[in-house]
Amino acid sequence: MKILIILTFLIASLLSGEFKLKKWKSGETFSGYLTRHHIDSTKIYNQIEPDDIKFLSEIESGAPFFESEKNATLKQTLIPLGEEMQISVFKKDGEYKFDIIPIKYKTIKDKVSIKIENSCFLDIKKATNNPNLATYLKKIFKDYVDFTKLKKGDIVSVDYMQKSIDGIPWGEPKIIAAYVKHNSQDYFAVLKGEDYHLYTSTEKSKKVTVIKKVASSSVYKAFSYPLDKIRITSPFSYKRWHPILHRYRPHLGIDFGAKWGTPIHAIASGKVIYAGWMRGYGRVTKIAHGGGLVSLYAHQSKQLVHVGQMVKARQVIGRIGSTGRSTGPHLHLGVYKYGKPINPKLIIHKIVKIKSGSNHNVKIVKNIKSSIKNLPYKEKKLYNTLSKLEEKTPYIWKDLNSTINIKVKEKKDASRIKLSSSKGAT
Ligand SMILES: [Zn+2]
Repeated sequence: MKILIILTFLIASLLSGEFKLKKWKSGETFSGYLTRHHIDSTKIYNQIEPDDIKFLSEIESGAPFFESEKNATLKQTLIPLGEEMQISVFKKDGEYKFDIIPIKYKTIKDKVSIKIENSCFLDIKKATNNPNLATYLKKIFKDYVDFTKLKKGDIVSVDYMQKSIDGIPWGEPKIIAAYVKHNSQDYFAVLKGEDYHLYTSTEKSKKVTVIKKVASSSVYKAFSYPLDKIRITSPFSYKRWHPILHRYRPHLGIDFGAKWGTPIHAIASGKVIYAGWMRGYGRVTKIAHGGGLVSLYAHQSKQLVHVGQMVKARQVIGRIGSTGRSTGPHLHLGVYKYGKPINPKLIIHKIVKIKSGSNHNVKIVKNIKSSIKNLPYKEKKLYNTLSKLEEKTPYIWKDLNSTINIKVKEKKDASRIKLSSSKGAT
């Protein structure tokens, strides 16, 4: 029988203060980080809920995090776990504490229009100080407009949303619609669901020739589910209610329920880059698929591949188990793109282009999707706004190395309910 122990903590006004954005040092472990800051890592680890241990292995080299120091002593560190939750290590009454708390951000919605002076990248950066906006714009128009060919007098306008932590851009910008005027042609892109629909003012011909940079060797990989029988017990989420901890936690993967010993298949071909134990995740295999994509298979009872081994798509790489923090036999599948956790559903049942090798130019004749004349009503309105948007002062983002003020929720009454056999599907 399970015994309920109810513990109530009153976390009174946590620190809020001046932080600096940093990048996680390559190869540094969480305990290594603590030791570097003269923090007793054993004392910290003793405070971490067993269910939370796995999040320590989610910290990637180069990942952004926030640090607050006073007189060369660490006051507080905030390490994001996905887009909504973060690890917090903070000093209180002379002792360091550990917690996982929500990220406080605002969403900024803005429109920008620039006349090209130098290049789209320099001009957008100059106008908004957002380092990523031009890169995402370029991606949307990639088959239609070569952004390196934009010249003086061309126009680029964008309607976008971006999460902000005290004025610093957080996460990726979400472009709602964008307009480009190049070589006296109009191009318009609008977000519909997950994809962009592109329209141009070209009408004479339904075809355009574009010069496209193509990787010398592009491979198309089909991604599939890791099990034959699919039963999802817990979906991917940046923030889900944890029934045992009674608090929000990210779930950076998909859980599949299956019988003990069921074969686990590689979701696509690739190279095994990790096969071993990870605290919280138990027996783990990681496969690199190229293009920055890595899949992770946790809680296995048996691993059938070793580091360095090349695996085929659908190859059996291990067996279902319940190692690490797990209530029963299941598979936790994580997918990472350049170290960032993404929803595995974004690539499963899809054919993904994996680029490798250097780029070279290829001439491609493309069909233009649609003429601007035929824009639906709502899109027409957006188009009219963006194509006529002129000298409006855009939102200007803070420099990434400026000092920012982060407020951490004060006075949080966190009731924690623990089961004596405290376990949760992870
Ligand atoms: Zn899981």
